[in-house]
Amino acid sequence: MSTAPAEIFEATDRTSPKTMALSMRDISHRFGETIAVDAVDLEVRAGEVVCLLGPSGCGKSTLLRIAAGLESLQQGEVQLAGETVARPGGRQLPPERRNLGLMFQDAALFPHLSVLENVTFGLTHLATGERRARALELLERLGLAAYAASYPHVLSGGQQQRVALARAVAPAPALMLLDEPFSALDTRLREQTRDDTLHLLKSTGAGTLMVTHDPEEAMFMADRIALMRDGRILQVGTPTELYCHPTDPFVVRFFGEVNEVEGVVANGEIRTAFGVVPAPGYAEGARLDVLIRPEAVHVRPVGDVGHHERTHVIMSRLLGRSSLLHLCVHTSDGQEIHGHSRMPGVFLPAESQPVTLELDPSQVFLYARPG
Ligand code: ATP
Repeated sequence: MSTAPAEIFEATDRTSPKTMALSMRDISHRFGETIAVDAVDLEVRAGEVVCLLGPSGCGKSTLLRIAAGLESLQQGEVQLAGETVARPGGRQLPPERRNLGLMFQDAALFPHLSVLENVTFGLTHLATGERRARALELLERLGLAAYAASYPHVLSGGQQQRVALARAVAPAPALMLLDEPFSALDTRLREQTRDDTLHLLKSTGAGTLMVTHDPEEAMFMADRIALMRDGRILQVGTPTELYCHPTDPFVVRFFGEVNEVEGVVANGEIRTAFGVVPAPGYAEGARLDVLIRPEAVHVRPVGDVGHHERTHVIMSRLLGRSSLLHLCVHTSDGQEIHGHSRMPGVFLPAESQPVTLELDPSQVFLYARPG
């Protein structure tokens, strides 16, 4: 079968280093005895948003700072748009020569410059009129045109972050590096600011690497997430891949609290206190850890309140978009254990309400027990 020229072009173009905004190879970094980053490979394509996600101290910021050139490279190689910008003992291009846009938790605007002047600051390569037009266009898109002549101190935190974003994006960098850019904002401002940020970033065609410790934020922003632990990337993939096909129990737990039980495979399934879980591909008699997301536990009230010998509700709480049910369930050997169900919308059965449970196997994850 012959291949059409357009297909050849697309295939070539996707693998071309020019379409790779950032490529980090075998990066390791120590602070004294602490291994902050340990043999990490990471790529960000042009137009792609990649989130570095992980708990505090796992090395996210160090990796981002190495990409920025704010931390000098100890091991590995950093390429931007196919060009090597840092190699140990070799060339280390300073941050200002890497064609980057940087945005941090603190907007760090110049207090003595107006909003417009803050955004035009890095546009020295343009004529004055063009600088002004470019900055005004960005401020307009971020709903801030009315504040062009204002000074940063009159703006809210969310507005300041948007000015910082406009300032970073204005010179049309090939790569944007964002470190916890929304974490100082309150919930409502955070949601709106990150929505505006995502749309603007996506319209620029730049690659973006963003650090966050918030899994929901990573899922909102990212085309791909790299989940880190102890200086290593544990899993990298789309939000759906990480959430629905987690390769490690740590990945499951990082996206939210789970019910955890043990079980033994019998007849290709595992009987747990929460229900039966299919265990295809596991040997008969294998001992597994069973991680059950609360939303996998579907609850149906049955009979009259007060039958404590049966699975029943301990407490129900409305969380807004969903309801969290604290449950008492029974193991096969008659022990009582507690667990959680998350049901959509307002679903608040009374305390002591007997219930039956049904499991959604797509949100139940099995892992062979160590040893
Ligand atoms: P956080 O979300 O808390 O910022 P992080 O995942 O971004 O955490 P890093 O800030 O990269 O993690 O830190 C990784 C490890 O390196 C931590 O153990 C941290 O204490 C250590 N570390 C980071 N910067 C330095 C430094 N300048 N000097 C000494 N140790 C450092």
